[in-house]
Amino acid sequence: MSGQRLVVCAGVIIAATSGVVAWTVNACAGGGQKEYKSGIVWPEPKVVTPGKADSDPPSDAVVLFDGKDLSKWNGGEKWEVKDGYAVVRGGDITTKDSFGDYQLHVEFATPEVVRGSGQGRGNSGVFLANRYEVQVLDSFENKTYFDGQCASLYKQTPPMVNVCRKPGEWQSYDILFTAPRFAEDGKVLRPAYVTVIHNGVAVHNHFELQGGTYYDRPAAYEKHPEKQPIRLQNHGDPVKFRNIWVREIKPLEGKKPQ
Ligand code: MG
Repeated sequence: MSGQRLVVCAGVIIAATSGVVAWTVNACAGGGQKEYKSGIVWPEPKVVTPGKADSDPPSDAVVLFDGKDLSKWNGGEKWEVKDGYAVVRGGDITTKDSFGDYQLHVEFATPEVVRGSGQGRGNSGVFLANRYEVQVLDSFENKTYFDGQCASLYKQTPPMVNVCRKPGEWQSYDILFTAPRFAEDGKVLRPAYVTVIHNGVAVHNHFELQGGTYYDRPAAYEKHPEKQPIRLQNHGDPVKFRNIWVREIKPLEGKKPQ
C-alpha cells in the first residue's frame, strides 16, 4: 500500500494518499475540524533526564569539570583546583576530547579583588572550536571597546546587553554552537553560528561568525575539522571556573513522504 493508507473514522473509511494526507484524514477528530499532518515520519526523541537545577548537567551531558579535577583537559595541571572551582594559572587549557555542534554550560567568576582596567581586568575566554572566543572579562563598571567586553564575540560583535555580575560573583554562559562546514579546498560551505545566554539573558541570537576571533587581524575562516576541542584562556588574571559540561546536539531527521 505504498503512498496510501486507510483511516477508520466513526465507521467511515477514508483513503488518503500520503502526500495529500494533510487536510483530509482527521475530519473525524471533533466537530468536523480538519487536523493538519505533515506525513513526515519522525524518530521518537530520546529521553533525557534534566539536572536538579537547570545549571546541573542533564543525563546525556559530558561533564568537563565537576569541581574536583581537570583531568579532561590538556594543560589542566597548571591551573589550581580548590573548593570546587579552578583558577586560571600559567597557560590555556584545552579539552582532550573534541566536539562538533553543541550546547555548552560554563560558570565563571572574575577576581573579587579588582585590579587593572579595560582588557586587563578579569580577562579570560571560552574558545569554541578552539578559535572562536566568547570573551570573559570583568565588565561590571569597567569600560573597554564594546566588541571586546564580557560576552562579546571578540572583535566581531558586542553582546546585545551587558548583564555582568559584580567581581567575585558567579556568572554563567549557556552557549549553542554550530560548527562551520568546509569544502575540501577550504571554501566555507556553512559558517559557524553562536547563541549565548549570559546569566539567563540572551546576548547573542544565532550570530553568524565571520571567522576566527583575532586580536591583530580581521576575522577570517581557516579550514578545520568539524570536531574541535574547547579552550579556556589564560590572560594573566586569576579568573575562576566551575560546573562545565557539554552536550553534542543534532536535529532529528524525519522521513518525508515519497
Ligand atoms: Mg579573553
